[in-house]
Amino acid sequence: MKPVVKALAVGLIAAGVGVAVGRMLAPQPKPIPTEPLGKLQYGNELFAKGKLLPPPVDEMTRYTLETEGQKPFAIVVSCSDSRVPPELIFNQGLGQLFVVRVVGNIINEENLASIEYAVEHLKAPLIVVLGHTQCGAVKAAVSGKHLEGHLPHLIEHIAPAVRYVRSTHPHLKDEALVERVIQENVRYVIQNIYQRSAIVRKHYELGKLEFAGGVYHLREGKVEWLKLPEMLSGNPAGGKPKGEARNAHH
Ligand SMILES: [Zn+2]
Repeated sequence: MKPVVKALAVGLIAAGVGVAVGRMLAPQPKPIPTEPLGKLQYGNELFAKGKLLPPPVDEMTRYTLETEGQKPFAIVVSCSDSRVPPELIFNQGLGQLFVVRVVGNIINEENLASIEYAVEHLKAPLIVVLGHTQCGAVKAAVSGKHLEGHLPHLIEHIAPAVRYVRSTHPHLKDEALVERVIQENVRYVIQNIYQRSAIVRKHYELGKLEFAGGVYHLREGKVEWLKLPEMLSGNPAGGKPKGEARNAHH
């Protein structure tokens, strides 16, 4: 190529003309997200449409995970309900999600420690708290009915969200009340994880950890993503907790 022509070609490419021409010729397919929350949202879209892609569960994946260890890209705190398996509804395979499941997607010392392990030692960059419609634990907490065995202990964790919704939305009843508590319980759990774990706060403040909260709708198969609690609305990554809430640790 003659120097002048070469310079012109380089100039054109530098100006982005080459890229623009390429785009005009072939329509670009929507790129598959590569950041953690985007991957979950994309996976859930596929699931809801019944277009699951085969997740990595093959022999090679198992070998790599065994020899190199796990590096999950998200921690999912969800209910044990058999209708809400995180790997399926987000279309993920082995080694991708670090799942903490307990009825009512509540936080206790043991699952807080599980989250801390995944944040500190596995460097998982996203915590998702996932509630779901028709959650039996939330319904029980709202109804206030007598329960046997260890159940009252578990339901007690949902009581603050029930009290909060009853005081802020006194007009809500039945289904609407349960729906709202399901959402507030997700926010309450996110807030709890943040306030109770110094490890989580450290990674969040370094911009290495994000939060997301959602409610999975059983019939539609879709996750409705929620607005985060005020103190974390500086998300995504790099965002600092805002204002007074920063000092609200206990
Ligand atoms: Zn549930």
